[in-house]
Amino acid sequence: MSKLGELKNIDWTKIDWQTELKSNINTIDTLKQYIDFSEGEEKTLRDVVDNHPINIPRYYLSLIDENNDKDPIRKLALPNEDELVVAGAMGETTKDPYGDDKHDKGNGVLHKYPYSALIVATDYCSMYCRHCFRKAIVGLPNDKTVENFQCAAEYIREHKEITNVIISGGDPLLINTQRIRKILQSLVDIEHVNYVRIGTRTPAVYPMRFFDDDLLKCFEEFNKRKTLYLPTHFNHVNEITDIAKEAVLRIRQTGVTVNNQAVFLEGVNDSVEDIENLMNGLVSIGVNPYYLYQCMPVSRVRHHFQVPLKKGIDIVDKAKQRLDGYAKRFKFIMGHDIGKIEICGRTEDKLILKQIHSRPEEPEKASRMMFMKLDDKAGWLDDMQEVGL
Ligand code: SF4
Repeated sequence: MSKLGELKNIDWTKIDWQTELKSNINTIDTLKQYIDFSEGEEKTLRDVVDNHPINIPRYYLSLIDENNDKDPIRKLALPNEDELVVAGAMGETTKDPYGDDKHDKGNGVLHKYPYSALIVATDYCSMYCRHCFRKAIVGLPNDKTVENFQCAAEYIREHKEITNVIISGGDPLLINTQRIRKILQSLVDIEHVNYVRIGTRTPAVYPMRFFDDDLLKCFEEFNKRKTLYLPTHFNHVNEITDIAKEAVLRIRQTGVTVNNQAVFLEGVNDSVEDIENLMNGLVSIGVNPYYLYQCMPVSRVRHHFQVPLKKGIDIVDKAKQRLDGYAKRFKFIMGHDIGKIEICGRTEDKLILKQIHSRPEEPEKASRMMFMKLDDKAGWLDDMQEVGL
C-alpha cells in the first residue's frame, strides 16, 4: 500500500488535534514521500513554495485520489506551477482584492461596513489553501494580525454602530481553546454586539479540532449569552466525509449555526454537478449554503482558479434549477472593494448585478442594480463596462 493509501486507514477521531499539527506536511521533501513528482516539477514547486508556503494536514492529504491528476482536493491542497503566474491571461491581479488595507484600523481590526468589524486573529491555518485570497498574509510575516485582543475589543466597545463581530484569520480555531475562551469573553458583555462569527475552514480540512470537548463547551457557554455562528468553507462534496459530518454534528449540538461560504474555482467545483452535489451535501449535514464567492483577482491565484463570469453564472443557474429551496439559498457573490455584489443572472450580452453592501461613504449604493457588458472572458467587475438596461 502507498504511504498516501496508509493515511486513509487512520481513525482521525482518535487523534489529538494539537499533536497532529506537528505531522502536517510543510516541505516539498515530506510531500515527495506521498506524491510522485518528476525532477523538473520538483524544482518548480520549490520556487512556488518560496512565495507561498505549503501546510497540508495528513487528514486532508488522505482525501486525494491518487489515480486522478484532476482530483479537486489535489488542486486545493498541493502547490502548482501556475502559482508562479502573477498576472494571468484573465487580467490584472492584486494582493488586496477586497480592499482590506484601506479599512485596517490597526491591531488586526478591519472595519469596512459600519455594522461589522472583523478581527484578524491569526495568520496561521491548519492548511494553506492554494486559492486563498489572503495569500499575502497567510503563513507569511505580516503586521495585520491582532496583537492585543483586549484593545480590539475596546475598539468595538467604543463603536456603537458595530452590531456583529467576525473573528477571522488565518483560521482562528487554530488558536488554543483557552485563548479562544478569553477572546469570546472580551466580547460577551458588549451590548450593541448582537452576534459573533468565527470564520473557519477546520470542519472541511481539519475536523479533528471538534473532538476537543472543551472547545465545544466554550461554544455552548458563549452561545447561551450571545449568538455564535460558525461560517465555514467547504468547496467540494469530497470534503464532506464521515468525520467532517460528525464534526459538524458536534458543533450543531452546542446550538451554534454553521453557514458555508464556498469559492467558485476552476478545476474544483466548476460544473453543474459539482455545485449541485456540494449544496445538497451541505444541507444533508445541517450546514446552510450561504455564499458562493467568485474567485478574486488575487496574484498567483486568478490565472488558474478564476472561472469567467459568463460561464459561471450559467453553471450556477443550471445548478439552481436542480436544487430545492434550502440547497439554493446561497448567493453567488463578488466580494469587491466597493462592497459585496450579488451576481443575479445574465441576458445575451449583459451581466445583471445587485450591490448588497456598500462602504459607509456611499450608503446610497447598497441595493443598486448594475448591468454590465459581458464577454466570454470577464472574470471580475473591473473587466466590464457598466451599460444601461
Ligand atoms: S483556511 Fe482560509 S484563510 Fe487559511 S489558507 Fe485556507 S482559505 Fe486561506
